[in-house]
Amino acid sequence: MSTATPPDIAAIVRQVIAELTAPGSPKPQATASAPAHTGSHEGANGVFSSVDEAVAAATEAFQQLERLGVEGRKKAIAHVRRIAIEDAEELGGMEFAETKIGRLDHKIEKLKVLGEKVPGVEFMQSEVFSGDHGLAVIEHAPFGVIGAITPVTHSLPTIACNAINMIAGGNTVVVNPHPSGRKIAAEGVRRFNAAIHRDLGVDNLISLVAEPSLESAGALFNHRGVKLICVTGGPAVARAALQSSKRAIVAGPGNPPVVVDETADLDNAARSIIAGAAYDNNLLCIGEKQVFVVAAVFDRMMAAMERAGALRLNAQQVDALTKRAIVMTGEGAHRHWVPCKDLLGQDASLLAQAAGATGHTGLELVFGETDNDNPFVPTEQMMPFLPFVRCKDADEAIDRAHESEHGFRHTAIIHSTNVRTMTRMGRLLDTTLFVKNGPSVAGLGLGGEGSLSFSIATPTGEGVTTPLTFTRQRRCTLVDDLRILGSADAVS
Ligand code: NAD
Repeated sequence: MSTATPPDIAAIVRQVIAELTAPGSPKPQATASAPAHTGSHEGANGVFSSVDEAVAAATEAFQQLERLGVEGRKKAIAHVRRIAIEDAEELGGMEFAETKIGRLDHKIEKLKVLGEKVPGVEFMQSEVFSGDHGLAVIEHAPFGVIGAITPVTHSLPTIACNAINMIAGGNTVVVNPHPSGRKIAAEGVRRFNAAIHRDLGVDNLISLVAEPSLESAGALFNHRGVKLICVTGGPAVARAALQSSKRAIVAGPGNPPVVVDETADLDNAARSIIAGAAYDNNLLCIGEKQVFVVAAVFDRMMAAMERAGALRLNAQQVDALTKRAIVMTGEGAHRHWVPCKDLLGQDASLLAQAAGATGHTGLELVFGETDNDNPFVPTEQMMPFLPFVRCKDADEAIDRAHESEHGFRHTAIIHSTNVRTMTRMGRLLDTTLFVKNGPSVAGLGLGGEGSLSFSIATPTGEGVTTPLTFTRQRRCTLVDDLRILGSADAVS
């Protein structure tokens, strides 16, 4: 993925920040609570002050979408893709200004990739059985209104990607966005719906709760009008969704380990690890979070990382950063490490500074050798520092990688040319994404094969979500007639 920053970004961001902060800002759709609506919800452009209103509007929109057929879905999705691409600089800038985490160039890129990598209605192929007893057609039908919970790490990209998949499957969606990314969520949803409404006469295909909270998330989970839940987030929300009485598609947390063995191309491994872990300052759930390297190539791998542009911290600096960046939380059996909020998603140069080192312009990643029991190893740090653990051999590296992944079965990466080592790791970790000899993002089709989604369903097993994830199978059977196999004499 390119990391070049378009030239006019700074000006755009200044303008967006000024608009967001100016008193009496003329962009109330994005920043203020939504007005209350009565009767038809047309004209709201998807932004609502309550879950009840949002679900009612999405229900109305679902009925209208059914009448527009597959061609209507296709046109609606085209507007979401077009706006994500055309307005990427402005919307990416707004998301960066509001959430204050990650990297501006990658916020923009995450919207632009929605154009071609996220599948649409072309995915909706029916299956047919034809035989002695006639025909059976399996169609993929919509659920209806889907309730979606989205993360702060990619607020608008997740909403846009979910919307494309869900509308392709014939559904509408009500989103409860992360409170810290709610303004950009509302602005994006407003733009998508306004364009779809103008073209197709249907509003609120993508509806949203303007002032989201844990209570509104709970209300969405339990709403009778919501037929399916799709949750993208960390451990707490994943647990809540798994305990819900409704069917849930859960895109839960990860802590992706990397194994590097003595057969790896070390320079490729170093470039790949930086490309994946530095992406949006390591906010991606699939991003490389800790690295286990066999002793035979450990020192050469560290040198390769430096050659590829990462900054190596010494033991004292690693220690200082660890104390500053990771803290213990919870009580008793629930005690665990968490990343400090003020360093989460921040630039590598800031982490270098916190460690007592000096970064340089364009620095993407800092790294250093740690013990296996350093808190960075088990923690999903979501910041561009990677701990490198020296391991006796590939078996030890794989076992430690397995332990550090916590059984999330999310994502793992290996750099090796030994097929048996790859196979052992693949079987033991049993992750949803397993990337070999490339950056983690290759697992989402960015430099690798396959489609893209920002919701990778892990504990519930659907994998990288597609339009089919959000459909129900319906089988239509015709007995004996219309079969094309067999003798013409058999037709009476
Ligand atoms: P988060 O868990 O703090 O929040 C995610 C969403 O869940 C937010 O909308 C939040 O308001 C809501 N939420 C949190 N606790 C809840 C509860 N108890 N009940 C109902 N709603 C609740 O996560 P985040 O910081 O926004 O995102 C980062 C996390 O999400 C990481 O753990 C990352 O791995 C994960 N993630 C996973 C995927 C995936 O595809 N599997 C994609 C992106 C992010």
